Amino acid sequence: MKTKINQKSKIKKTPVKSEKGKNGLLEPKEVICSNCKKARFFIRFVIPKQSYSLKNNLGYWTQKKSNSKKEYCNQCILALFNNKSLYWKTVKSLQCRQQMRKYIYDKKFSD
Ligand SMILES: [Zn+2]
Repeated sequence: MKTKINQKSKIKKTPVKSEKGKNGLLEPKEVICSNCKKARFFIRFVIPKQSYSLKNNLGYWTQKKSNSKKEYCNQCILALFNNKSLYWKTVKSLQCRQQMRKYIYDKKFSD
């Protein structure tokens, strides 16, 4: 009997369950952090919104189109939040600041 470990099992770390195709639900998409270029993580598909989660999207927080393709990993979002001078410069909208603070307190960036 061969006990060769399937290579795929190494990458298979999908944190979110997905049922492809059902109710327009899409697979989480894997991205590499635009900031540290190291972290790989998944962007979850949000069913009520019928779109991918924007919580890691820099364009969402900065409200800049030029940032709309930048996805930050949780650690980089937290680092940005903790770097206050950079944070005030980057996230200008009060509403976005409030929301980010809430997300952080709700531990949405802590997985
Ligand atoms: Zn990162």
